[in-house]
Amino acid sequence: MKNYHTQQRTLLLDYLHTHIDENLSTSDILEAMSGSGISKSAVYRNLASLEAEGRLHRISRPGDRRTYYQFVDEDECRGQIHISCIRCGKTVHASPNVCERLQKTLENEDSFEIDRSETVIYGICKECRK
Ligand SMILES: [Zn+2]
Ligand SMILES: [Zn+2]
Repeated sequence: MKNYHTQQRTLLLDYLHTHIDENLSTSDILEAMSGSGISKSAVYRNLASLEAEGRLHRISRPGDRRTYYQFVDEDECRGQIHISCIRCGKTVHASPNVCERLQKTLENEDSFEIDRSETVIYGICKECRK
């Protein structure tokens, strides 16, 4: 029984690993998992436990009632400031220069230390501004 659960979790993680930082709706995830032998309830259960572990962030967008999840990869996302588009949900890492400058400026001007891994800056991406 335990192995079965581990296997389901691994399948879900494999999928999430190929979609790091993307905003995935619950239906995107369910659709991707359909046919892989994972039941809906198992998907929900695993999403909930990954969220509890802090590996999955739940995202809500203004004017959109769906729930989105963003998978955070501990290695790739460590120390990164994420910039996220409120229109299409695309999320990328801010360039290192931006992170450094933002961090230094806030430290100097406001004596505030950013927790980078918890920082998301929302705005509108290049594609959506066209
Ligand atoms: Zn990231
Ligand atoms: Zn966008």
